[in-house]
Amino acid sequence: MLKRNEVKTEQTWDLTSLFNTEEEYDKALKKYVEEAGAFASKYKGQLHQSDVLIEAMKVYRGLLEQIGRLAAYVTLHISADLNDPENNERRSGFVASVSEVQTALSFLESEISGVDDETLEEIRRISPENNHYLLQIQKKKKSRLHEKSEETIEALSPVIHATMPLYNKLKLADMDFGSFEVDGKTYPLSFVLFENEYDYELDHDVRRKAYVQFSETLSKYKHSMAFNYQTHMTNEKIMARLRSYDSNMSYLLDEQDVTREMDDRQIDVIMKELAPAMRKYAGLLQKRHGLEKMTFNDLKLVIDPEFEPAVTQEESKKYLVEGLAVLGDEYIEMIERAFKERWIDFAVNEGKASGAFCHSPYGAHPFILISWAAKMREVFVLAHELGHAGHFFRCHQKQNITDCRPSMYFIEAPSTFNELLMANHLLSVSESKRMQRWIYSTK
Ligand SMILES: [Zn+2]
Repeated sequence: MLKRNEVKTEQTWDLTSLFNTEEEYDKALKKYVEEAGAFASKYKGQLHQSDVLIEAMKVYRGLLEQIGRLAAYVTLHISADLNDPENNERRSGFVASVSEVQTALSFLESEISGVDDETLEEIRRISPENNHYLLQIQKKKKSRLHEKSEETIEALSPVIHATMPLYNKLKLADMDFGSFEVDGKTYPLSFVLFENEYDYELDHDVRRKAYVQFSETLSKYKHSMAFNYQTHMTNEKIMARLRSYDSNMSYLLDEQDVTREMDDRQIDVIMKELAPAMRKYAGLLQKRHGLEKMTFNDLKLVIDPEFEPAVTQEESKKYLVEGLAVLGDEYIEMIERAFKERWIDFAVNEGKASGAFCHSPYGAHPFILISWAAKMREVFVLAHELGHAGHFFRCHQKQNITDCRPSMYFIEAPSTFNELLMANHLLSVSESKRMQRWIYSTK
């Protein structure tokens, strides 16, 4: 697999649109730390006065924009190459620089929580730009702790949230998946290669062998992985209890503005309505591929593998532009820009984060990560990620930074909708039954 510095520039995203040079980033970081510190000194203890609160919120939104951009620069670099010492050093430096001021800023929510509801409602009415943010704080009032406790939790934040980066370090940096052999041929293996390639591999021997070796490598780390996960759960459990929730579940759902009823409904639909169809589909796969036994390792197979067209990046753009055309000219213009201005990181390289995501810092354009395997199904992945991009790109144009914070429950709606649009478009333009079957089996 290529090292990050060996991939072609046009396959990578252009992070200079965030900061042109490393010096520019350093300067912006310094400026943020200074301004955030000055903000805390100026407004701490003053937010009981409505006009001061409104003024402070305006400045605070500016600070959020600054740190969003800085954090994006740090995390996007590192997700493109987790092994790069420079990326790791930048992240450590960033955490060290901002953690103190982030703690200092925790007074804002605490003080606003202390303002009585009547006054907050009046402020929401006279300054609609603060409506969403203040409403969220009002809702969380009952679960807020004493100011000093909130400050302590904020100060410990990098430690409290260490389980996710640790999980990534384990699987992407420490784990060596080696290579495996089938019929005298050697195949390289990595986390990303397994997820992107071997899991879909048609040669049963290669797929099975990759799966065994992948699982064996994971298994070598199972105790640290399990403990890390347990730590994550313990953290949530403690937080739930401290914040007076009756369970982990209600704590996590409340953060997302989701009721238990909504969550139960999703799970019921999946288990009752979707499960029988999926079992039937798995049976169909088994028959198509002549498998004696259907295993977990065979679920990513497709019904008609010879049919899946290879797709270049340029062709994928054509599909996306046609398939999503119904969303309007401005939307299509955004897609064109995403390709032309390198919003998308297509490269496949060592140390790159697995899967795909879209990150949309306020005041900048969205960034999309994908490890491009040149398969038709990735057109759907891009349609999905561009759904996130479209959502936040437009949201950022029309709303302020504190307004653009929808619940996770809603976040997957525009992206999933785009996938359906793509599928419908492809179904409508394809005459061939074979193509239609391929689309149904992919979506
Ligand atoms: Zn998504």
